[in-house]
Amino acid sequence: MIGFEYGRAASVADAVRQMAVSPGAKFVAGGTNLVDLMKMDVERPAKLIDVSKLPLDQVEEIAGGGLRIGALVANSDLAYHPLVERRYPVLSSALLAGASQQLRNMASVGGNLLQRTRCAYFYDLVTPCNKRAPGSGCSAVGGLNRMNAILGTSESCIAVHPSDMCVALAVLEATVRVTGPRGERVMSLSDFHRLPGDTPQRDTNLAGDELVTSVELPARGFAANYTYLKIRDRLSYAHKPWRNAQAEAALRGRAPDEAAFAAAADLMLREATGFGHNTFKIDLARRAIVRALSQAARGTPQSQSNKKIA
Ligand code: SF4
Repeated sequence: MIGFEYGRAASVADAVRQMAVSPGAKFVAGGTNLVDLMKMDVERPAKLIDVSKLPLDQVEEIAGGGLRIGALVANSDLAYHPLVERRYPVLSSALLAGASQQLRNMASVGGNLLQRTRCAYFYDLVTPCNKRAPGSGCSAVGGLNRMNAILGTSESCIAVHPSDMCVALAVLEATVRVTGPRGERVMSLSDFHRLPGDTPQRDTNLAGDELVTSVELPARGFAANYTYLKIRDRLSYAHKPWRNAQAEAALRGRAPDEAAFAAAADLMLREATGFGHNTFKIDLARRAIVRALSQAARGTPQSQSNKKIA
């Protein structure tokens, strides 16, 4: 058995204070990912600082028409929140595409942002994995890589991003508010997650002593034309939520037809790389992009369980 300390934070300031004096500690809220990682010996925090009782569980309207979502709002509460369902349905749709109802009841927004990849080698302590053990190698390159990424990869790591919620937040141009010993700062969601490069052990640009306190959404929510299309096995293509400015620009001002969508898909996938078992995903992604754009162009509402084009 591997021992660790436990402490409950009484306030955000107390959480930051406890972290500052506890090197090797981790914040825990719902624990749906971190506790699994500890059971599998992938993570070994010296201390857990429990932030689950902090007053960060509200969804509130902010000036300018946006929403502030507390870091401790449960994923299921967020998915079914009336303001989110009405103004940001792509976020509801993405949340409901992830995990199971039980997990969504426990998982927090902050934890969802920080969940770690589901690459099988990452959890298998007897195989090399640069993300788990930097410098040890990547077992997925040249190994079983059907579940791995075709976009945003590096020689060091081809893992996929694990969160559905974050994909919707990237589309919505959300920002993430964090606090730490150096004060508060705000990052765009797109800057929050990192590409693997040669430091795949770092998933995000959050410092180890900083706590996510909220996510903010701008007013524009794409409520009339949206879709979130998830294609299983495990439906992820890239190492971080993936947007392509060139593909988006190519669609601007064009009639929403299949030719325009196919051209955007080609731009989006121009630098996609297959690693053998996952090469089929390039063509699959091309067809999925055209299908998703066709759905969005047809408008809402959409069934969460049946995404067929009528
Ligand atoms: Fe590890 Fe990344 Fe390679 Fe998977 S893809 S084995 S997480 S380094």
